[in-house]
Amino acid sequence: MDTQRILFTDLHAQYLTIREEIDAAIASVIRESAYIGGPGVTGFEAAFARYLGLEHVVSCANGTDSMEIILKAWGIGPGDEVIVPAQSWISTSEAVGNVGARPVFVDVEPWHHTIDVGLVERVITPRTRAIIPVHLYGHPADMPVLMSLADRYGLKVLEDCAQSHGAAIDGRLTGTFGHAASFSFYPGKNLGAYGDAGCMATSDPDLARRIRRIANHGQEGKHNHLTEGRNSRLDGLQAAILSAKLPWLDRWNEARRGVAAAYSEGLKELPLDTPRVWQGYLHAFHLYVIRTDSRDALLQHLRESGVDAAIHYPTALPFLSCYASFGHRSDDFPTAFSNQSRILSLPVYPEMTADAIRRVLDAVHSFQHVSIPR
Ligand SMILES: *Cc1c(COP(=O)(O)O)cnc(C)c1O
Repeated sequence: MDTQRILFTDLHAQYLTIREEIDAAIASVIRESAYIGGPGVTGFEAAFARYLGLEHVVSCANGTDSMEIILKAWGIGPGDEVIVPAQSWISTSEAVGNVGARPVFVDVEPWHHTIDVGLVERVITPRTRAIIPVHLYGHPADMPVLMSLADRYGLKVLEDCAQSHGAAIDGRLTGTFGHAASFSFYPGKNLGAYGDAGCMATSDPDLARRIRRIANHGQEGKHNHLTEGRNSRLDGLQAAILSAKLPWLDRWNEARRGVAAAYSEGLKELPLDTPRVWQGYLHAFHLYVIRTDSRDALLQHLRESGVDAAIHYPTALPFLSCYASFGHRSDDFPTAFSNQSRILSLPVYPEMTADAIRRVLDAVHSFQHVSIPR
């Protein structure tokens, strides 16, 4: 085949659209040698806080550290339990384990891939301290219900917004519902740096002070180490790149929604599940995830047709080897379990051309002629 592959995501294409802004941002950091911290970092924190409409954004090294630091700042540790969805990237449960607490998994919604709020109450115990909803694939979790549940039981809520920059419920952005939020700026995320990066967001000034201290060696003021902390900081280059990219985020998300709409329209006659969005919810389409019983065969067919599809994620969290000792069974999490073998992510990124979208749809349809049993 002489036509180019359809990449799963195309970071270079995005760079080309904003090359001058990015190059200038990088050059200015190097000119000023402000590599760790400095005005670029505080500038990005202020800009992202303004975007979210929250008082405090504290940057850090990545979106896994950010969750760990927040849990630590809340004093969550050994003996405590934290409720997490059964379907996510490992960071969500890993952060809980890394502070010494136990992740308690809850199955996901049959259609929306976010934590099934109707199943949360039954796993709350006297040891439960917090809930970490994940806005998986960019679709917001049911925050209004979760927040009222958390209020009733005195639990903290930490939103994992790694896939949901700019997603919203009735006009209110994800990250602004919980007591704190965690963002990843891993390069492939909707707002991505050119390396690892992350941040924490909250309207709680006391929490903001503590997380900033933990992320910077326990210091409050230079050489005043109130506790042992850690080194988890955003560097100046990443901050400058993120500041250059932030003004584009909403337009990029709009473009992602355009790709998703074209896919859903183009696939609607086929016997496979396309993403559903609740009324009033704004999906950020970090990923466009379909479901079919012929997932493996379709994935292979797409790859042979020059389309990079992928699986997010092949193993649900409770069934990962690292949690084998928990003794979870497949029927403890029936939706997450069945999703493992049925979900498939099609390429979605803002710069996708109409031709690329057409070629993905053609590739799925040409498999369809072979068979997709329901
Ligand atoms: C990417 C991601 C993270 C964490 O990201 P880092 O790679 O540590 O920045 C956390 N949760 C989810 C759901 C993610 O997709």
